[in-house]
Amino acid sequence: MIGEILGASLGALGAGTLVLGAYRPNCRLFGKVIGRGPRGGRALYLTFDDGPNPTATERIAETLDVHHVPAAFFMVGAHVERHPDLSRAVARAGHEVGNHTQHHLKLHLRGPATISRELEESHAVLSTATGRPPRCFRAPHGLRNPFVTFAAGRLGYTVFGWTFGVFDSARPGSEEIRRRVRARLRPGAVILLHDGDGYDPAGDRRQTAEALPGIIRDARDAGYEFRSLQELIGRR
Ligand SMILES: [Zn+2]
Repeated sequence: MIGEILGASLGALGAGTLVLGAYRPNCRLFGKVIGRGPRGGRALYLTFDDGPNPTATERIAETLDVHHVPAAFFMVGAHVERHPDLSRAVARAGHEVGNHTQHHLKLHLRGPATISRELEESHAVLSTATGRPPRCFRAPHGLRNPFVTFAAGRLGYTVFGWTFGVFDSARPGSEEIRRRVRARLRPGAVILLHDGDGYDPAGDRRQTAEALPGIIRDARDAGYEFRSLQELIGRR
C-alpha cells in the first residue's frame, strides 16, 4: 500500500516536488505537519530538540519552572537511555516530551523498515522513561518522506515542524541566540532551540541554556505569552 502511495505520488507530482517536500520541515505534501500556532493572538511555543543532555536540559527545565513557562522537548531515544532521569524530570514538570527518533537519523532517504524501527524504538524508550507514551513527533532536520508519515500515524502522533530556528547549535554566543530569537518573534511561532546534540550525547548546549532567561524576558516585554505545545496536538 505504501509502495502504491509512493508510486502514485511520484507519478502525480514528480520527483522534484517530492524532494522539496522532503527538505521543507513544514511542507504538508507528506501529511499534516504543524509548523505554527494561531496567528491571531500573542502565543509562542518553545521547543527543544536533541536532548536530554547533561550540559543543558536540567538548567533549561529550572529556568522554565522559575518563569512558569511550558515547553516541548523532542528527545532522541538513545540519549534518553543514557539519561532517563532527565527525561522523567522534564515530563514530571508538565512539559510535553515528543519523539525525535532513536538515533537521530535523516529519514528522508530511508525505507519503511528503518523508519518504523527508529520511531517505535524511541516510542518504547520514552514511554518507559517518562511513564507515558509520547503523542508528538518531529523528524530530525525536518526531513520526511511518506513512510515517516505512515509510521507517525500508526503511533497516533501529531507531527510538528517549526516556525523558525536560530542555529543555536552552532554556538554563536548566548546573547546572539537571544538576539536572533527576539528579531524573529511573531504570533503563533513554534520556536526551535536545542537542549542537546542529535549525535553527541554530551554536546555542549550551555549557550542555549544561558540564553533562555533573556529570551523569555524579551518575549514577555513584547507582549507575547508562552503556551504549551499540547494545545496544538491533534489540531486540524
Ligand atoms: Zn534534531
